[in-house]
Amino acid sequence: MGSFIGLSKRKWLLIYLVFIAAEAAIEIGYSLWSFSRIVDFTFQTTVFAAAIAFLAYLQRRMDEAKEELTQNRQKLQNIFDTLDVAIWSHELTTDALLITPGIEKLYGYSSEAFYRDLTLWRKVIVPEDLPLIEDRVRRTALGEAVTTLYRIVRPDGEVRWIQDRGIPVLDEHGRMTNFTSVLFDITDRKESEARYRSLVETSPDLVAVVSKGRLEYINPAGCRFIGALSPESISGLPVEAVLPGHVWSALRAAAEIATGEEGELKRLEFRFETPEGRASDVEITSMPILFEGRLARQIVGRDITERKQAEQTIQHMAFYDSLTELPNRYMIKRHMNKALSRKTDQTAAVLFIDLDRFKIINDTQGHTVGDVILLMVAKRLENAVRDAGIVSRQGGDEFIVFLENVGKEEAVRLSQRLLDEFLEPLEYGGQRYYVTPSIGISLYPFDGTDEDTLIKTADTAMYHAKARGKNNFQFYTPELLGVSSRKMELENGLRRALERQELTVVYQPQVELATGRTVGMEALVRWEHPENGLLSPGEFIPLAEETGLIVPLGKWVLEQACLQSREWQAAGFKPIPMSVNISVRQMEDDRFVDTVTEILERTGLDPRHLELEITESIMQNIERSTHILNRLKKLGLRIAIDDFGMGYSSLSNLKHLPIDTLKIDKAFIDDIDSQSEQGAMVKTIIDMGNHMRFTIIAEGIESESQVKFLIWNGCKIGQGYRFSRPIAAGLAERFLASESAHT
Ligand code: C2E
Ligand code: MG
Ligand code: MG
Repeated sequence: MGSFIGLSKRKWLLIYLVFIAAEAAIEIGYSLWSFSRIVDFTFQTTVFAAAIAFLAYLQRRMDEAKEELTQNRQKLQNIFDTLDVAIWSHELTTDALLITPGIEKLYGYSSEAFYRDLTLWRKVIVPEDLPLIEDRVRRTALGEAVTTLYRIVRPDGEVRWIQDRGIPVLDEHGRMTNFTSVLFDITDRKESEARYRSLVETSPDLVAVVSKGRLEYINPAGCRFIGALSPESISGLPVEAVLPGHVWSALRAAAEIATGEEGELKRLEFRFETPEGRASDVEITSMPILFEGRLARQIVGRDITERKQAEQTIQHMAFYDSLTELPNRYMIKRHMNKALSRKTDQTAAVLFIDLDRFKIINDTQGHTVGDVILLMVAKRLENAVRDAGIVSRQGGDEFIVFLENVGKEEAVRLSQRLLDEFLEPLEYGGQRYYVTPSIGISLYPFDGTDEDTLIKTADTAMYHAKARGKNNFQFYTPELLGVSSRKMELENGLRRALERQELTVVYQPQVELATGRTVGMEALVRWEHPENGLLSPGEFIPLAEETGLIVPLGKWVLEQACLQSREWQAAGFKPIPMSVNISVRQMEDDRFVDTVTEILERTGLDPRHLELEITESIMQNIERSTHILNRLKKLGLRIAIDDFGMGYSSLSNLKHLPIDTLKIDKAFIDDIDSQSEQGAMVKTIIDMGNHMRFTIIAEGIESESQVKFLIWNGCKIGQGYRFSRPIAAGLAERFLASESAHT
């Protein structure tokens, strides 16, 4: 029983009745008083009037109650309407049927239609769903409350999903006395379910539900993952029988960790062996869900093999050189850092390698050939280093070798092995390329204790190796530090050397061996560096070539040499050829031939008295070189091949070029007097050269015995300290004078 302000419900009812009675009495009294004013007051009339007034009062109260009921009904109807619910209640004993108005919204038929035709509800069911009704009838007859989902067709043809919960009431004899149906429209839920289902069914990801160690659900993609024929063939199986053991135990472990933390998502990665035997990476997400009222785990698996591969590719690109596949500079640094942080009393060595002559190949043959050469070099380096350390490419033609647990002797042995590896030229496309390494070595912990310092000191040592004539190795010493910073200074200084007139040209006589007469002069450039003194071309020509400064520098030398030659002629000396060195880089300049033409015109030198010395490296781009040399020849000047024998050409190759002179490299001349192979080779060069009508000049003659050997073997002209070092123009006049004296 409830109470309100201390009074019971019954008392409230009593007060209410007293209130109504009082209200009625007042109203009746008022009616009587009005009536008595019109009609003569008798007892009968009074009673009659009182009865009339009471009836009128009752009528009004009933109208009010009816109105209230209508309103309440409307309210109820509104509630059912918005809920999409209808209730169908059939009292079988009295055959009283109650259908709530919501039925109209659900079915689209009026309530009356259902009252009229008690089988209408069944008639509108989609025929395929009718068997469900039969089953339900059978079960409710036994007193079971049954929920059935079926589709109905509305008068406008729209199909809706109905959830129908039938609740029977049976008497003690098992006879049904009441049947109530609660009907919901669940079309929206069904549609979203269908959408979800189709998403899951067509998803390329594995979606599965596992409960109590059994597979409750798996989608078709999941079946493909596992290699099962169909979801039906594996649903209900223990998971161990379906998933690879390692995956399942990891998932279970993850699930255990997640226990207690509701809804926690677990993400794990696995390597699966697909049914076709392909290894694929899978990312699995596992999360607790309610599945058909039970706690279960939903597992979503995604094939991330491609993503993994892409990650690996990116990793590879970040740490490996794309051309040679060698570790790149970042990788070697990382590797060194790790190795060095482990070190205690161990030693290690860093070899910084720069290739000699590679730039020429790259410039003349193009990058495709350059790339092939680099690949071959990488192979040779790896071949020489083997397991002793790791080889990496720094970029360009620079490589770094890191040798762990290696001391000085071992570093020497390995460097020698590296040099030996390049004794044989590289061969590609029928051509031979003489590429050699210059190696700088730094030792841990003496020359540095971290990777950056060790690389820097090895780099410095490498420059020293270059300065020592390339194709060799040098260890770092602290004194070298000055050398490499000097290189940078040089680079800057060289840019300004031309403007500041710090360059000069010296001349070295070319002498007829038999008579000692001067028959030519070679112009050689020098740099009078304001701080470093006189620098030889070996120190700055490669730099000038690298930076392109060789083009203006070479032009300047050529002009100086031509002017000097004209000056000597003007002074009355007999005209002799003036040799000028031209680097390949200059020849590549499109304006080169024009530049030579201009200089000849400007200085007025007879082209017959000019000889251009080019090196064999021009042979690497034979077509282009032939074209340029032919154009130069047309100007009427002479062409010499300098440093012959060092590289790329064979005599037969030269046959096709418009060449006048061969200068045999000093390296051959050095050894000719001993009974060496060099001697035999020089003999052959001289023989063949003479046969091909080349002028042969032997370079770097220092001794009388060399002179004799050369004369004996048919070489007529020579150049070297034996006769004169390169000297200033003023001093060179002495040789011209002696020549003149002979004529
Ligand atoms: P190169 O043209 O082969 O010049 C000969 C080099 O050998 C010269 O060195 C010369 O001083 C040196 N030499 C001559 N006789 C002897 C000797 O008996 N013993 C020894 N030990 N050396 C001797 P230099 O002047 O230092 O020039 C070196 C190279 O620099 C030249 O070799 C040439 O390739 C290049 N070069 C010099 N001047 C120029 C230039 O103006 N332009 C270009 N592009 N290159 C130049
Ligand atoms: Mg020369
Ligand atoms: Mg030479």
